[in-house]
Amino acid sequence: EATQKAPHIAILPTPGIGHLIPLTEFAKRLLLHHHFRVTFIIPTTDDSSLKAHKAILEPLPENITSLYLPPVSLNDLPKEAKLEKRIALSVTRSLPAVRQTLKTLTESTRLSAFVVDMFCADAIDVAQEFGVPGYVFYTSSAMALSYIFYLPKLDETCSCEYRDLPEPVKIPGCVPVHGKDLPDPVQDRDNEVYKLSLHRWKRYNFADGILVNSFSELEPGAFKALKEDSLCTSPVYSLGPLIQTGLTSGSEGIQCLRWLDEQPRGSVLFVSFGSGGTLSHNQLIELALGLEMSQQRFLWVVRSPDNSAYGTYFNAQSPDDPSEYLPNGFLERTKDMGLVVPSWAPQMKILGHSSTGGFLTHCGWNSILESMIQGVPLIAWPLFAEQRMNATMLTDDLMVGLRVEPNKNGVVERHEIGKYVRSLIGGEEGKQLRNRMNNLKEAAAKVMGQEGSSTKSLAKLAQKWEAIKSPTDKPPM
Ligand code: UDP
Repeated sequence: EATQKAPHIAILPTPGIGHLIPLTEFAKRLLLHHHFRVTFIIPTTDDSSLKAHKAILEPLPENITSLYLPPVSLNDLPKEAKLEKRIALSVTRSLPAVRQTLKTLTESTRLSAFVVDMFCADAIDVAQEFGVPGYVFYTSSAMALSYIFYLPKLDETCSCEYRDLPEPVKIPGCVPVHGKDLPDPVQDRDNEVYKLSLHRWKRYNFADGILVNSFSELEPGAFKALKEDSLCTSPVYSLGPLIQTGLTSGSEGIQCLRWLDEQPRGSVLFVSFGSGGTLSHNQLIELALGLEMSQQRFLWVVRSPDNSAYGTYFNAQSPDDPSEYLPNGFLERTKDMGLVVPSWAPQMKILGHSSTGGFLTHCGWNSILESMIQGVPLIAWPLFAEQRMNATMLTDDLMVGLRVEPNKNGVVERHEIGKYVRSLIGGEEGKQLRNRMNNLKEAAAKVMGQEGSSTKSLAKLAQKWEAIKSPTDKPPM
């Protein structure tokens, strides 16, 4: 009876692990600080492995439950269909099942809000059909969110491809960014994904609110543009950094941590491209040889090569045998300097380990926040989605990372890699980057504390949701 009365929130994630992680942290805070109940409604595809999802969802407290929807098929899509299209379809094809589930939940519980991942804005309508307010959870930066609201204007005023613009794009409140560094979906304006994205982002204006995994002290300009300068008409809540906690390490994970225990303080470069990032075979070999040339210690999470840059996005945690694709003799030659782990490692614990001195990252937003709260400076190696824009923010605005420069064939060469690693781990530049990262670490810890801005922002949201008595009551303005 008591739980029946507690406000209940339904959350709709998309298939990527990088989106599920902050959403579960959000759910945990709602439970811990505000005693809400949460139900995850999870779309699945018939070719997705749910191993990584289950590892995150199963250990959650019992007032956070998960409902897996029947798998939908994406088999009719051509192999080259873009990631954004795959994600969008996995959700739109699940909408009938989402509607059915929401109907059941509104009939049986006090459903106060429906929170959808940034890629499922269309699903807000379904909540609103039942009189439940719909919110977008934005898993990236306030800068990326500003860009979304600015895009219709850019679309109107610019006739060429954005990458051909002579001047950097000035997103309100943000550091200027080159057109070629804008997110993937807008790099080809004739592709249907561009139109799909414009449409989807316009739906954000119909949300009852937008929750962002960032904090005002990190991106004051972008938040001001969004909130005070009315770039966005929906209320914006800064709730971050929401960072994975309590993930178990597994046996390989424990091996990584033991290995780190034996290394000198701040000496190890952690190398990982997130849950989905992959390199071409050519690039993988350059990276291996670059690490070797740097003569610095490294802990590298490797994945078998793939030309798509996000080869394991739907299938994180798919281990294989690295000796099949790493350069001949590499593992043997580097065995005293490096540890190679196939596919998955306990990233948060590695970043928090005192032996870790730097992080070569694909610039996924979670990876950036995780490195920030541990004060670890970065080498920015963006691959897909909005990662190039994140890299611009890291190097040009926050100045906490070095950005790799690919050659004219798009390959980052071994000598260059060797240089970046040496200046980050041993060099003077690395020291300065680390100092700045440590300042951000302090700011991040503060905003999540009792009187911090992100804690207050969550409390404001919770208060609004608590005031909703039944699905037909509207939230107070
Ligand atoms: N992650 C991890 N171990 C790995 C790879 C990824 O724990 O070997 C976690 C990482 O800590 C982060 C998330 O998966 O929380 C990846 O999110 P991010 O936004 O950085 O990138 P994405 O995977 O979405 O591209």
